Amino acid sequence: MNMAYFNGEFMPLEEVRVSPMDRGFLFGDGVYEVIPVYGGRLFRLEDHLDRLERSMQAIELSNPYSRERWHGMLDELVGRNGGGEQSLYFQVTRGVSVPRNHAYPHDVQPTIFAMTRASTPSTTVTPMAAVTRHDNRWERCDIKSIALLANCMHKQAAVSLGANEAILLRDGALTEGSSSNVFVVRDEVVSTPPRSNAMLAGITRDVALELMRDAGIKVEERAVTGAELCDADEVWITSSSLEIAPVTTLDGEAVGTGVPGKVWTQVNDLMQGLKRTLMAA
Ligand code: PMP
Repeated sequence: MNMAYFNGEFMPLEEVRVSPMDRGFLFGDGVYEVIPVYGGRLFRLEDHLDRLERSMQAIELSNPYSRERWHGMLDELVGRNGGGEQSLYFQVTRGVSVPRNHAYPHDVQPTIFAMTRASTPSTTVTPMAAVTRHDNRWERCDIKSIALLANCMHKQAAVSLGANEAILLRDGALTEGSSSNVFVVRDEVVSTPPRSNAMLAGITRDVALELMRDAGIKVEERAVTGAELCDADEVWITSSSLEIAPVTTLDGEAVGTGVPGKVWTQVNDLMQGLKRTLMAA
């Protein structure tokens, strides 16, 4: 049975009921996190809770749970769903408020929801096809908001073209993917845009940067132009769900030699090694 958590209780996912007056439902007024679970343990939990805290502060939503309570609840949910490898999703919305009114209501109980799904670690690499798109989203992409319509529109445009991801460019510069961060490699130097309001500070992005710096791979956080993206030897996208994935076609053209690159292979091996250590611990 797939167990979920909803406002203080564990229950089967299909039994969760949300009010139509919830501001998450009416306004997309809430924030979320996705955390990979390796060997029954939440990967980089503190980093995810730090980012949740930043997202909540940005929308003036006070955190309903202490760190300890988040730890306890999320660990229990993972355990109730059998541990092992999972992907955990959770969100906090501002809660139920009547009448519908744009301004933030006072004295409202936030709605807390969490669910997990089993994820089978894949042994085969899935090369990604991406298309480039104009990043027409708002200027607070650093907030991990549940209001993801613009991201969905970009993802769907990619899918409609037979691709898996849309890579977004604003004013000629790379921002991120519709649900991922982006890295480019040229002459064995890895580059990725620096953190800003134009993108989400991905936890997997940080993990990839750490692994590369520790391994002595040359990596730069700097503005990356559209031309650099198109001329790259390698392009990768990172997210908690995809880990570090190679993009082998961009706008229908091969990236580099059209197969996952040498630097990606090295960094992905480091990532898989890290996961194996966690799963064995
Ligand atoms: N950017 C966007 C827009 C995303 O939706 C995601 C994944 N949710 C990321 C970047 C990657 O973040 P993370 O590595 O923390 O999953």
